Amino acid sequence: MASDIIKGLRTTLKELGNKPTTVSYPEEHRAQAARYRGRHVLHRYENDMERCVGCFLCAGACPADAIYIEAEQNTEEQQVSPGERYARVFDVNMLRCIFCGYCQQACPTGAITLEKEFELADYRAEDFIYHKADLLEPAGSPSPDNAITGSNTAWQPPAPADPPLPIPSRQGAFDGSEASAAAVGQAALAVKPNADSEPVHESVEE
Ligand code: SF4
Ligand code: SF4
Repeated sequence: MASDIIKGLRTTLKELGNKPTTVSYPEEHRAQAARYRGRHVLHRYENDMERCVGCFLCAGACPADAIYIEAEQNTEEQQVSPGERYARVFDVNMLRCIFCGYCQQACPTGAITLEKEFELADYRAEDFIYHKADLLEPAGSPSPDNAITGSNTAWQPPAPADPPLPIPSRQGAFDGSEASAAAVGQAALAVKPNADSEPVHESVEE
């Protein structure tokens, strides 16, 4: 028994000089990992226009069906985004969201990103539906372009300047020999190259 107490005290004394590994949350916060994905933010351009063009790609990519959008046409009198449309309604159901980041990956304009805020507790289910007014950056304080990355850049390293696989259209090497019949809407068309690289089209008998 005494040996156990001495063993315990030895461990305590050994740790006395070390820095604590805990933080005094909520006064102190830990630095978050670059890949951390927290609460969504809808961004503006530097001229305050909304980046979202109401294309629904994020809602389509969402595996949890957590995004609800109603798009509205921009008009000359009310140009909200640079596109044809903008999101009049943009809701995210945080009780459904699994923070996968697919919405920010799907967005063609960098309008939606998952940022670092994680303190999302609330009391009522309806308070977990985040509306556009909760998500959109305030007018007059848009994030600079280079800050709109969310966790995308951490998850996806930039594409190599010199891609390892050849891109036929860039190299002028495309001769039609691998044309997809489905891509030209003729599923029954076989395409064969001839010796002079001129594609020869043959109809396939059903
Ligand atoms: S993070 Fe994933 S689950 Fe959440 S809204 Fe975006 S796509 Fe849907
Ligand atoms: S957030 Fe992006 S992907 Fe979603 S509707 Fe707006 S522009 Fe489209």
